[in-house]
Amino acid sequence: MQRLFKAATIWSPGAAPTSALLVTNGIITAIGDNALASPFDEVVDLGNVFVMPAFADGHAHPLFAGREMMGPQIKNLQSVNEILSEVSKYALGNPDVPWIIGGAYEAAIIEQGDFDAHWLDSVVNDRPVVLHAVDHHTIWVNSKALEIAGIPSGTENPSGGTIARRENGEPKGTLREPAAIDLILQHAPALTMAQEVHALTLACKALREVGVTTAVDAWVEDGMAEVYITAAQTGQLSVDMNLCFLAEPNKWKNNVSHFNRLRAEIDALSNPQNLRASTIKFISDGALSAGTAALMEPYIDQPESTGLMIWSSDELLDSLVEFDELNFQVHIHAIGDAAVRQALDAIEAMIRINPPRDRRPVIAHAQLIHPDDIARFAQLGIIANYQPLWTYLDPMNKELILPRLGVERNNRQYQLRTMIESGATISFGSDWPVTSQVPLHALAVPVHRQDINHQPAEGWSKQEAITIEDSMHFYTSNVAYQLFREHETGKLEVGMRADFVVLDQSPLEVNPHEVREIKIIHLYKNGEKIK
Ligand SMILES: [Zn+2]
Repeated sequence: MQRLFKAATIWSPGAAPTSALLVTNGIITAIGDNALASPFDEVVDLGNVFVMPAFADGHAHPLFAGREMMGPQIKNLQSVNEILSEVSKYALGNPDVPWIIGGAYEAAIIEQGDFDAHWLDSVVNDRPVVLHAVDHHTIWVNSKALEIAGIPSGTENPSGGTIARRENGEPKGTLREPAAIDLILQHAPALTMAQEVHALTLACKALREVGVTTAVDAWVEDGMAEVYITAAQTGQLSVDMNLCFLAEPNKWKNNVSHFNRLRAEIDALSNPQNLRASTIKFISDGALSAGTAALMEPYIDQPESTGLMIWSSDELLDSLVEFDELNFQVHIHAIGDAAVRQALDAIEAMIRINPPRDRRPVIAHAQLIHPDDIARFAQLGIIANYQPLWTYLDPMNKELILPRLGVERNNRQYQLRTMIESGATISFGSDWPVTSQVPLHALAVPVHRQDINHQPAEGWSKQEAITIEDSMHFYTSNVAYQLFREHETGKLEVGMRADFVVLDQSPLEVNPHEVREIKIIHLYKNGEKIK
């Protein structure tokens, strides 16, 4: 089947725009005049539109997002009443769901973020309700959940977690950090495979709707790979996925052979393009907003603290060396400058110890990098995976990070321009469901570095702004490179898969603040329309 696609503008990273693509069985076989001069079976005239490669998300959590989508839809609601009415609606519509679990609510709508179990009781009191906050480190539950978990007023805070209290010591309904969250969720019934696969199909649909055909699951823990495998085997994985198995201190050694086996099982699936699992994820620190990102100099609000280093440098190196030897790619979450340096040092040592090969290590987030370390990304061939939507002075930055970092360090976050000039490779990801998965909402933020009200007027650390073209590279071809898929996808060139998105306007031509208004008309994967 030879299909000729015609459009006003067809853009591909690093190439001159064209107006025609010939697609043969899903693969681009000619472009421009060569395409127009070739025989074809069918012509698809897309009209006065802008065509570009489909987006690829280099760091997301699709299955977590899909699980959230199965519960009440409370994201972005701005009052407790709105959330309660959504929970109530969900409860009425789903009388057989034994535990109502959902997310993610905006904790900042209540001062100090301590939500009350009684508020939820007013809409659901016959079964447990557990809602996750947007930080994904906090839950708000009803009294039934507290009762089932057997958390009476005397329960002490578990080590590493907290239970918010009323004045009389009774638990109020808000619990923080995994140690406390597990007290509740360990009682919730596990999702069945059918429910898990359904969650994944919801996530895939949400990604396709916004123009994404390839994504990374950057946190695959026990039982999750099996969901992806089942979805792939039954033809329900409509977005191509790369899985990152989570390695944790003390536990990783016991998982080496398990990860190896899962990778082999995935490699043996009938459609190797659809699902891969060749990466190991390491989390080296926390977050700046929580004061847990690892810093070289102390936090200003806690002068005795430099944050949290999750791995010892020795163990991180041992683990990197072992997985790298097995040809796994490494993907390290590092946010503070001390964590970034630890990751760079460990990768540098790993490269010295193991034989040379094409490894493409990734440091994700890389929010604060010490000036001496910038050049090391290019020198070591490390990809910096940034979240473009985060590159402006958002309320979290202003209220939670700035007071902790001080102006100088705060303004030194997300040095995209400096990184480009150092020769580093940048790729983009959403970190969905932590933040929105919509590429067109994020694409121009590193260009203007302003909020939706165009503030600050001069742009936040505007010297670090990049061009919209850079951004389009970083969300397409550079993610393909991160995923070792650059010969398949990310560009519209001869020999590549016809994965492209059809937009009503060109991001190159509208005002950067209008990029988020651009509409996706269609999405094509392997030359077939999937939206
Ligand atoms: Zn993440």
